[in-house]
Amino acid sequence: MKAIQVKQVGGPEAMEMVDLPVPQPKANEAVVKVAAAGVNFIDVYYREGRYKATPPFVLGQEAAGVVVAIGTEVKSVRVEDRVAWCGQLGAYAEYAAVPSDRLVAIPGGVTDRQAAAAMLQGMTAQYLSYSTYPLKAGDTALVHAAAGGVGLLLVQMAHNIGARVIGTVSTEEKAQLARAAGADEVILYTQTDFESETKRLTGGSGVHVVYDSVGKTTFEKGFNVLRPRGMMVLFGGSSGAVPPFDPIVLSQKGSLYLTRPTLVVYTASREELVARSEAVFGMLASGKLKLRIEHTYPLVEAQRAHRDLEGRKTTGKLLLIP
Ligand code: NDP
Repeated sequence: MKAIQVKQVGGPEAMEMVDLPVPQPKANEAVVKVAAAGVNFIDVYYREGRYKATPPFVLGQEAAGVVVAIGTEVKSVRVEDRVAWCGQLGAYAEYAAVPSDRLVAIPGGVTDRQAAAAMLQGMTAQYLSYSTYPLKAGDTALVHAAAGGVGLLLVQMAHNIGARVIGTVSTEEKAQLARAAGADEVILYTQTDFESETKRLTGGSGVHVVYDSVGKTTFEKGFNVLRPRGMMVLFGGSSGAVPPFDPIVLSQKGSLYLTRPTLVVYTASREELVARSEAVFGMLASGKLKLRIEHTYPLVEAQRAHRDLEGRKTTGKLLLIP
């Protein structure tokens, strides 16, 4: 089978298309024929070595497809079931062996491509807006990179809850997408200082929560736009890692909260994984959540997909099709 392997961590060129044997399932695994694999910023971190895996490894954390073989102990899925998963390396391939307790069934109203597009970023937006800082109608949220993969979904969920959403983006085209997703205000943070603009837009009172996946270039200023007892949710570092942080800042800027959550922990139990994926698939099936799958690449073009993602050229979801 064809797969995208990293033999030595590095830039996009570290990804190589190779021929590997189709994996055989261990006792607790199912082998899935991949219909579509999601591209996520976390794949960049693994490829670069910021997150650790032992080379050679097949990249990719998210996919959907059909079960073609199961291990001897697997009871929860059957051959020919349509399934999706995230959080397990090996998705950039024609076939992947996945622990069966990390697979979720794809409901009838959701296509394989939609499932591959929604699992990781959709459940992330869901846990951020419903669990990490549970938004309420009337809250104001600042969402950085609002036209990105997670961003467009988080803006929609926050808007649907009834929160006022201020989004930041780098271009006018992205601003239009963020507005269409439900952002009430959009700041081009590459041209306008988001700190003073957010203060102006909130009449000086600040926001209840900052959802920050950009990190290095936005993190410190984010504390200046939070209202007292507001929450900084740092969930990524697309611009780089944040510098060391002194907790006294939380006290000085208004008894603030800081958290650095991960999807792994918010889907650690089978029950939570199923509940979050069902919540996301339910929003998709009912039309409350719209996916933007603008970028679809053949598996062999994984390097291009990464260059586009890192180059800030993309909006919404990127898929690789084996
Ligand atoms: P995105 O589609 O959001 O792509 C990243 C975006 O970040 C870009 O489009 C760009 O938007 C913005 N950005 C700002 N500065 C830079 C920079 N210097 N280089 C590149 N991009 C920059 O990616 P994803 O939706 O896949 O992921 C978004 C973030 O969420 C990532 O940081 C990821 O690690 C994190 N994440 C965290 C999870 C968790 O549980 N903690 C789970 C899933 C994702 P613009 O051009 O508008 O500035």
